[in-house]
Amino acid sequence: MIGAPPAPPAPSGVYLHFPFCAIRCTYCDFATVAGQDAKIDRYLDLLIREIESFQQDVPSEVDSIFLGGGTPSRMRPEQVARLLEAVSRRFDLKPGCETTIECNPESLDGDKVRGYHQAGVNRLSLGVQSLDDRILKSVGRAHDAAAALEAAAAARRAGIPQLSVDLIAGLPGERLARWDRTLEQVAGLEPDHVSVYLLETDKDTPLARSIRHGRTEVDDDDSLADAYEKTVATLEGAGYELYEISNFAREGRVSRHNVKYWTDVPYAGFGLGAHAYAAGARRANRRDLDGYMDDLDQGIDPLDWADAWDPGRRLEEALVLGLRLREGVDLGALGARYDVDLSRRYAGAWERALAAGILEAAGDRVRLSAEGRLRSNALFSELIGSEE
Ligand code: SF4
Repeated sequence: MIGAPPAPPAPSGVYLHFPFCAIRCTYCDFATVAGQDAKIDRYLDLLIREIESFQQDVPSEVDSIFLGGGTPSRMRPEQVARLLEAVSRRFDLKPGCETTIECNPESLDGDKVRGYHQAGVNRLSLGVQSLDDRILKSVGRAHDAAAALEAAAAARRAGIPQLSVDLIAGLPGERLARWDRTLEQVAGLEPDHVSVYLLETDKDTPLARSIRHGRTEVDDDDSLADAYEKTVATLEGAGYELYEISNFAREGRVSRHNVKYWTDVPYAGFGLGAHAYAAGARRANRRDLDGYMDDLDQGIDPLDWADAWDPGRRLEEALVLGLRLREGVDLGALGARYDVDLSRRYAGAWERALAAGILEAAGDRVRLSAEGRLRSNALFSELIGSEE
């Protein structure tokens, strides 16, 4: 196995985190704060300072920027413009750089979309999550279904080049019949891209704790599998291609930034709790707002944790993340990057997964079958740490 990180296969990406939300949703475990808007101006000044003082070994050529949160659409367009200008001063942005901002319906209107577009944003990711008002209310979302539909329409009218919609399957109270309707309504909006995440119940959130303690009921695994299969059928029927376990896109509308996370490409991360991947090592910023800001104020790196270059671990991650993609993993190409014969090293795991119908193989490439997408966690656990 090689002793230095392999050369990155593509331009890198930049992630910027804006943690401020109107209220905190019960299922959220992101680095966010609510009720602290008085700190926004100082936070943005320090975020720009972090970008300007950036010293990690990420290639300076960048072709994707992602403003995530939190609720970045609580920023005014001129604040977004300041952030993007700071990124453009520090990195070499490629023409047509995919620039995404995450938005919530309650903080979006046409004027704001136009302002973001003028600032350089060309892709908007709208957090819809559900189109059932009871569910939205029960998990603390600050908008209803009508507001979500109106925000999507406003983004379209304002001429944003790409619109993505985020949904969560398996929220408490979601029933398959209602989920069908949500999918059909979302497809009717004709977004370029749809992300459908399954509710994670193993996190340290109020909702996950309530589920674990039996106070809130959610669908069982079979119902979730039905919902997932329904999602794939409905969105594929509406012209979307499933290109990753949770992501669907119209032709040419795959999220360039997200694909970096699954294909071992470096990215820089700035802001509260932001993660980065550079020179084969991962790191994360601290998640407490005042500590993050005080560190930067004092010229200290706001680091929470960092791991060192570990080729074995990176290879396992690249394998598992790559298998999330519809196209799967080219074992020859990935193995060459890490100087490992992956066909031989994991021969037993491949054989078992192929026999179980979890994997499909074509030449040097392996990918999850439709069945495997539902049962991928077991295979992933087997791959991580397995020495055949
Ligand atoms: S709006 Fe998004 S980031 Fe903010 S609390 Fe809700 S889920 Fe978390």
